[in-house]
Amino acid sequence: MLFMDNSLQEDLNELQALGLRRGLRQTQSPQGRAIIVDGRRVLNFCSNDYLGLADDEKVKAAAVASVGQDGFGSGASRLVGGNMSAHTALEERLAALKKTEACLLFSSGYMANTGIIPALVGRGDIVFCDRLNHASIIDGILLSRAQMKRYPHADMTALEENLRRASGHQRKLIVTDTIFSMDGDIAPLKDIVALARRWGAWVMVDEAHAFGVLGPTGMGLVEEMGLSDQVQVQMGTLSKAAGCFGAYVCGPAVLKETLINRARSFIYTTGMPSCVAAAAHAGVNIIAAEPSRRRRLLGNADHLRRGFKTLGLDTMRSTTPIIPILAGEAHRAVAMSQKLFEQGFFVQAIRPPTVPVNTARLRVTVTAVHTREDCDAFLDAVKTTCLF
Ligand SMILES: *Cc1c(COP(=O)(O)O)cnc(C)c1O
Repeated sequence: MLFMDNSLQEDLNELQALGLRRGLRQTQSPQGRAIIVDGRRVLNFCSNDYLGLADDEKVKAAAVASVGQDGFGSGASRLVGGNMSAHTALEERLAALKKTEACLLFSSGYMANTGIIPALVGRGDIVFCDRLNHASIIDGILLSRAQMKRYPHADMTALEENLRRASGHQRKLIVTDTIFSMDGDIAPLKDIVALARRWGAWVMVDEAHAFGVLGPTGMGLVEEMGLSDQVQVQMGTLSKAAGCFGAYVCGPAVLKETLINRARSFIYTTGMPSCVAAAAHAGVNIIAAEPSRRRRLLGNADHLRRGFKTLGLDTMRSTTPIIPILAGEAHRAVAMSQKLFEQGFFVQAIRPPTVPVNTARLRVTVTAVHTREDCDAFLDAVKTTCLF
């Protein structure tokens, strides 16, 4: 054994004692409303596959056809020789749907956020960041070396105060999730945009959980609020409602050119496989063409949330398909998750550091492909296991 093993093991033991140790479970089926986890068939209430596209026939067929036509790997960075037709086709499609000048793909949402932010700001600049923003945004800001000003969640008074104090700084960037990933509430985007105009800041949104979910054609909160001409950087992922993998950023052409030249997570990585772009293209087409999926999704979410509230559970500020059930202490959230699993329902406990201390929770997500019977069976199970 190498000498370092002891101290690593001690760290893990400490996490275990605090109820914070994480481990992998094995999924042994395609994604869907019902999946097989660790050998057991369970109804899945913790997937981000909001529209049920991860195992969709059209999405799969697009991937297979692409492999036949373009092979699998893209062979090099897109700047070198790996810029495949499927990338460009998807970028054009997304820019058209988003009504922006341009779109650029990234290989994942994590890579998009850690690439975009350092490409736009650096030392001497300042980034205003909602306290509940996704970890990839925090990491992007840290990598940029710009000053990070975190404001209390959705607190516009605090944001304005921070903007006022920052006047000497060169570039100002406000970054926010549109649907917050652990709380399921929506950013006050109209107010953020108004403050940005007033104080000369750019706005960047992360629509990871809103793309495919909000807006008349599923393009997200910016579309729903009609703010497309006021948000400079619209980032989102293809890994959640689109059922695939990868991420996009939509905005002005000069943004795209800047990212191609400056974003390290775009430049120094191999282009995503064509078949991933082709599958995502099929997913995006379904998002735009089938609003009925969104209606079913939001209907299921309302039904579940109302059910939890009737049971007296705290769903925090959720108004979306992400519905937390507040547990408080980490051990309690884990116990709730385990009991539900034993009854055939898969929901993960979310613990610090992903969420603030003493706000451990079950993070329930529902999809368009859950039936009402699924939702009601889940409500029954929650009633008998979580009210203790
Ligand atoms: C999931 C998520 C990401 C990361 O996206 P991946 O494509 O999974 O890397 C980024 N931001 C938010 C808000 C997310 O929820």
